Amino acid sequence: MEEEGLGMAAIYELSDIYRWSIDFFRLQKGDRFKIIYTERYINDSIYAGIESIEAAVFETDKTPFYAFDFKTDSINNISDYYDENGKTLRSFFLKAPVNYSRISSRFTKRRFHPVQKRWKAHKGTDYAAAYGTPIVSTANGVVIKSGYTRGNGNYVKVQHNGTYSTQYLHMTKRSVKVGQRVKQGQVIGTVGSTGLATGPHVCYRFWVNGKQVDPYKQNLPSADPLPNEKMEDYLNFIQPLKDEIDLLSFKNDDQVL
Ligand SMILES: [Zn+2]
Repeated sequence: MEEEGLGMAAIYELSDIYRWSIDFFRLQKGDRFKIIYTERYINDSIYAGIESIEAAVFETDKTPFYAFDFKTDSINNISDYYDENGKTLRSFFLKAPVNYSRISSRFTKRRFHPVQKRWKAHKGTDYAAAYGTPIVSTANGVVIKSGYTRGNGNYVKVQHNGTYSTQYLHMTKRSVKVGQRVKQGQVIGTVGSTGLATGPHVCYRFWVNGKQVDPYKQNLPSADPLPNEKMEDYLNFIQPLKDEIDLLSFKNDDQVL
C-alpha cells in the first residue's frame, strides 16, 4: 500500500475497516484493492492527506470484500462501514452455527458424559437440531481441518485469524475442504450424530489463542446491524459508489505478475 502512495493514516484506516473480515497476516500474492476516498486540503491549497475512505473493495484469494461508509445517524454524526448487502463488517461472529431447537449442553468443566457415562469437562456448546440442518461458519476464515475421528465424528475446524478458531462436530456430511476460504454464514456441513453423540446436534467449540473457551463468556467484537428501515436508503446510497468502484481498474491489471 505504501508503494501505491497511500499514506500511513489511510493504510491504518483501511486495515481498521477490514479488521474483522480480512486476516492481513495471511495475504497472498495477487491480493489487491481499490479505494475511493476524499482528500483534505488546508485553506483549499495545502494537501493534508486522506480525509476518509468512502468505498473500498479488497480482493483476497479472489474473494472481493466491499466496504461502504454510511451515516446511520446524521444528528449524532455516527457512521460505519457495511458490505454490498448492508451487512456490518464488524460483527465478527454469528451467535450460533445453526438454527437450533435448543442448547442441549453448555460449556462446563464437569458434566456427566451421556455416551461414556462418566464425569468430564465439556469444552463446547451443544445445539440440538434436526438431522440435515445446515451448519454455517460463524465467521470468515480458512478451513484448517475437515475430517473424521471416533470422538468428533465428521468435523470441520475454521481458522478466523491469528487469535480465533472454531470447530463443528458430529456432522452427517462435511461440505468444505482443508484450505478452502469460507465466509460468515456459509454452509460447511449438516447436522448429524456421528462420533460420540446420542442425538443430532452440533458441538460448537471455540478457541482463543489455542485454548478452548466458552464463547458466551468472551467479550467478542460485535456491532449493530444496519436497521431494517435504513436498508433501502443504504442500497440507494451505495449504488453509484459501487458502480464507480467496479469500473475502476486495479492498479496492476495490465501488468504480468
Ligand atoms: Zn458437545
